[in-house]
Amino acid sequence: MIPFSPPRMDQVTVDEVSKVLLSGWITTGPRTKLFEEKISEYVGCRKTICLNSATAGMELVLRWFGVKAGDEVIIPAYTYCATANVVLHCGAIPVMVDVDEKDFNISVAAIRSKITSKTKAIIPVDISGLPCDYDAINSLVRESSIQALFTPATDEQKTLGRIMVMADAAHSVGSSYKGKKQGSVTDVAVFSFHAVKNLTTAEGGAVCMNFPDRLDTDEIYKKLNTKSLHGQSKDALAKTQGNGSAWRYDVVEPGYKCNMMDIQAAIGLVELDRYDDNLNRRKDIFAHYTNAFSSHNWAILPTYLNDEKESSYHLYMIRIKGATEDQRDQIIQEIFAQEVAVNVHFQPLPLLTAYKNLGYKMEDYPEAFNKYANEISLPVYYDLNDEQLEQVSTAVINAVHKILG
Ligand SMILES: *Cc1c(COP(=O)(O)O)cnc(C)c1O
Repeated sequence: MIPFSPPRMDQVTVDEVSKVLLSGWITTGPRTKLFEEKISEYVGCRKTICLNSATAGMELVLRWFGVKAGDEVIIPAYTYCATANVVLHCGAIPVMVDVDEKDFNISVAAIRSKITSKTKAIIPVDISGLPCDYDAINSLVRESSIQALFTPATDEQKTLGRIMVMADAAHSVGSSYKGKKQGSVTDVAVFSFHAVKNLTTAEGGAVCMNFPDRLDTDEIYKKLNTKSLHGQSKDALAKTQGNGSAWRYDVVEPGYKCNMMDIQAAIGLVELDRYDDNLNRRKDIFAHYTNAFSSHNWAILPTYLNDEKESSYHLYMIRIKGATEDQRDQIIQEIFAQEVAVNVHFQPLPLLTAYKNLGYKMEDYPEAFNKYANEISLPVYYDLNDEQLEQVSTAVINAVHKILG
């Protein structure tokens, strides 16, 4: 069986993790701080904080900004549940909008139509690693009539003076938008290092910050750090450093517990160090698939490179023209029967019980449903060899012909 997305783990990773395990310091410490610096350098952002997941990162930022009951946050209906759940955890309303016709990403026209005086943030999601239309989104929140609608309730909101743009960049480490790396394009971008993502720490995430000068980014970093450690005024490492009074600390707010461990950072440092190599292989895999399917008129191929954007080559999301949801499911069964694991990204949130129960209706997001209904994600990872690639494309072609004739 060709697996869908196994992690790239080898002796280099094992050695680095062993070093941390035997170093005397296994949780948040020097390796996490180094990883944060290297990420900032790689993406070109002001400051990065690493946490135990992207979900935790997005939630901490919303909480730092003061998003609460009565507020609205605009998100796409086509995403992973994390994007909605962090908004719900804050007590606010996720205002779902449809995706654009041209790709799987949020429609900027749809965002515009949903902005109200309650809108505090927008969370565009770079589905499959392709950046959203950030120039349009960034200028939208700066339009004078939109800024005039903004009703700040906290000092942070007053100082920013407009809707915050926080990219859910869970898929898009290494992608670029008009020559800038994702992580440096919006106020905040949050990466995921979950096991199936391009760059992994098993579980983990990073918040990259690019707030305008009127906000103090170093101060925001400190606040997020404190929030990630129960609101403790000192972290565990700081408590071990210094004299006999270093043990004393305060708790300044009832915070959360979502810091990154040095064990995770050690994996991340290895991954980041060889990330360009990883991306190059992924790019070759995308080229292979495009080459294998482009002559078939049933294949709707994904966009991953154009004048403005370059994907991180996270997911190869092919669509089968004319296939119903049921036929797509049968095609997937046939692909599995040929020993190839594929996936679907994503079931739009209104299809899922938790969001149905909140009143979201699939028929309000027709483009998201159309994209989902005939979508299949193919395996993409560093260790996938050319022979396996051949096996995947042959399996897909056979399966489509068997089901659609
Ligand atoms: C994986 C994923 C997340 C969540 O990442 P975690 O690190 O697991 O919290 C959020 N959004 C999208 C689009 C994802 O695919």
